[in-house]
Amino acid sequence: MTTQQSIVICGGAFAGLALALALRQGLGAEIPIVVADPMLANRPSRDPRATAIVAACRRLFEALGVWDEVAATAQPMLDMVVTDSKLEDATRPVFLTFAGNVQPGEPFAHMVENRYLIEALASRAEAAGVDLRATAVTGNDVRPGGVTVSLADGSTIEASLLVAADGARSKLRERAGIATHGWEYDQSGIVVTVGHERDHQGRAEEHFLPAGPFAILPLTGRRSSLVWTEKRAEAARIVALPDEEFHTELEQRFGLHLGEVKALDKPRAFPLQYFVARSFIAERLTLVGDAAHVIHPIAGQGLNLGLKDVAALAEVVVDAVRLGIDPGQADVLERYQRWRRFDTMAMGFATNTLNVLFSNESTLLRSVRDIGLGLVDRMPPLKNAFIRQAAGLTGEVPRLLKGEAL
Ligand SMILES: Cc1cc2nc3c(=O)[nH]c(=O)nc-3n(C[C@H](O)[C@H](O)[C@H](O)COP(=O)(O)OP(=O)(O)OC[C@H]3O[C@@H](n4cnc5c(N)ncnc54)[C@H](O)[C@@H]3O)c2cc1C
Repeated sequence: MTTQQSIVICGGAFAGLALALALRQGLGAEIPIVVADPMLANRPSRDPRATAIVAACRRLFEALGVWDEVAATAQPMLDMVVTDSKLEDATRPVFLTFAGNVQPGEPFAHMVENRYLIEALASRAEAAGVDLRATAVTGNDVRPGGVTVSLADGSTIEASLLVAADGARSKLRERAGIATHGWEYDQSGIVVTVGHERDHQGRAEEHFLPAGPFAILPLTGRRSSLVWTEKRAEAARIVALPDEEFHTELEQRFGLHLGEVKALDKPRAFPLQYFVARSFIAERLTLVGDAAHVIHPIAGQGLNLGLKDVAALAEVVVDAVRLGIDPGQADVLERYQRWRRFDTMAMGFATNTLNVLFSNESTLLRSVRDIGLGLVDRMPPLKNAFIRQAAGLTGEVPRLLKGEAL
């Protein structure tokens, strides 16, 4: 391998930028790291959404020096309640509660607004010397010992490894002939930020309604981010409603426990799907983040899975380079795939099962799941195990997810 060969990352959103920073930190300036994405021209990002970042991924951001930039705007989740009822039920009994810490003083998750996180990642990557190019990847030709990556601005880059962090509709995955296994749900997630009169006290709420989960996720100030699941046609109808009628639908589900509630931005519906790529690697190519897998947002784990890919791939690549091994070599990429594919399939299975169990009108199933939730609620060790699992702290955890630098 020649040391001039770059590592090129196609896609400069969460997964791509976090990987670039991790590689730069672990490899120094020895190997140029390039991130290409036309969206890099649109900085600062105006993405109005927010994401639940679990403890392990917060530790990764801390290790990458990004957490300090977003900490002031991040809302810790101090506890969580789960209810299970019909839309028209007068009350929503709480079946399960989780206290929010994985260890004293460390919440199991924070809500982070996407625009702050993307900007913090991009500016930190730039300052660290990552080569950010506001252009698309248009081609990749594998040749002996490397890959030639073509960009839409007409330039080419000689690389030892190309990383596809180009999202669910990854062209690189398609061009490599990697099939996916999965399906479309007949559900969309309506996302909207709301303001309310009373403080949420850092509480997250998951209301299981027959159409799917209605999640109220706390943001700083008297604001919350909603992920509200409905059948696709119903979601399209709801987001197109005039403001007053939308407000009625919102209030019916949100309730008045936090006082008057009001939408602060335009609600948007995201069609939901599930897939896992049949392979996370091809010759001189690896997939990370949504390019490799997309799961139901029922447990708020999609990006967190992607960040685990990032931490594992960065560790595998840095370890290889330190041993003088070509990071694009097949056995290096195999190590990454072995590490990540099983965990991804397990999370996909868990989120699909939760969705099947909870997104339906069956009275029998409702009784069974409510007994299950009640039992879990009475078993603190089991609850703690769930919290640690949800926080990404179980299994073979990559160093960055423990907060250790590479
Ligand atoms: C309703 C909803 C709620 C969610 N809530 C959560 C949550 O609470 N917690 C959580 O962990 N996850 C959540 N997720 C999932 C999360 O949003 C995604 O997993 C995450 O955004 C994926 O990030 P990514 O960087 O892999 O891909 P993306 O964000 O899709 O980025 C891909 C990037 O690649 C670029 N690109 C595409 N093609 C090219 C090309 N040819 N050349 C160069 N660049 C290219 C695009 O411009 C884009 O910037 C949610 C998802 C939905 C739908």
